[in-house]
Amino acid sequence: MSERLPIIDATAGSGDGAGLAVLPDLKAMTRDELTAFLKEGFGESRFRGDQIFRWLHMKRARSVEAMTDLSKKLRQALTERTRVGGLELEDVRTAQDGTRKLLLRTAGGDRIESVIIPMDHSFTQCVSSQVGCKIGCRFCLTARMPLRRNLSASEIVDQVLWAQEVMGEGERVGNLVYMGMGEPLDNYEQVVRSLKILMDEFGANFSSRRITVSTSGVVPKLARLGADVPVNLAVSLNASDDETRTRLIPINKVWNIEALIGALHAFPLPPRRRITIEYVLLKGVNDTRADAERLVKLLRGLRCKVNLIPFNPWPGAPFERPEERDVDAFGKIVLDHGFTVTVRYSKGEDIGAACGQLDGNQVAA
Ligand code: SF4
Repeated sequence: MSERLPIIDATAGSGDGAGLAVLPDLKAMTRDELTAFLKEGFGESRFRGDQIFRWLHMKRARSVEAMTDLSKKLRQALTERTRVGGLELEDVRTAQDGTRKLLLRTAGGDRIESVIIPMDHSFTQCVSSQVGCKIGCRFCLTARMPLRRNLSASEIVDQVLWAQEVMGEGERVGNLVYMGMGEPLDNYEQVVRSLKILMDEFGANFSSRRITVSTSGVVPKLARLGADVPVNLAVSLNASDDETRTRLIPINKVWNIEALIGALHAFPLPPRRRITIEYVLLKGVNDTRADAERLVKLLRGLRCKVNLIPFNPWPGAPFERPEERDVDAFGKIVLDHGFTVTVRYSKGEDIGAACGQLDGNQVAA
């Protein structure tokens, strides 16, 4: 089969252990890839590619058999030679504030989490890109799970499709943030493919303005991301000096603050958009006036807004949440230098669904 098609690529690293990885995954293909695949392997037209893509990503079909307006012959051929990848929904847990955490299982039995957060007029979904993570941010519970594997594009997309299944009448996810388990840019190919699928008008049809990819600072992939898909970018900065940042996010040893800020200046930001600078505030570590002063100096001239996240403690965490007055004082300094500042007190803490609390193990209890 042609190398253009994601036959192997789409399942690469999936390690689903079910012997399924050899079959091409229809759900992991962009619409163009699916169309090319159907033409090459089955002699089908563009129309058929659109039709099957719609079944998978708009009507949320979980098998070829469910695609009732395809001929029996084509359904049989596709069933024999392809698969519809994705995840199993194992459990849904709802927090007091309405945040819902989905526990999902891969075909190989790995568990991942995705969180649906109620906002003022809509919902934001936090999407995972890997099982575990190798970045090792010290304030993050996911970092305690070693990286087991990358999620395939279909497993990333399926988190969004499942969210639609579990939401009530009239509810819809309006914004997606790739901020769940894993470092998205460490699973670049599958993440970009999932973005293209989710933005397709024949599927979930998310506007690029409504999707944010958050990175811990994988500098070499930043320019590539900006060129490949015009999504919003968030960067987990969390410190204003290299010593503190290296302590919190070890990849700072490889790409330090200067390299990261340089890459942000070069990022091909669409007009009227700003990069989100994420800053987890840790009591006594990075929350002083001096930290705030250094931060505004670093960000000078960058089209950005600052999102302050008071730390969400988890059992055994080596950090504490700062006092509210220190959060306010930090925010005021940044604000007084002309930046837009938001303070995000995470939701869903009582079910372990807040920022940095995802570990794939807390729902089923
Ligand atoms: S914060 Fe993100 S990049 Fe850092 S360890 Fe957690 S999941 Fe990985």
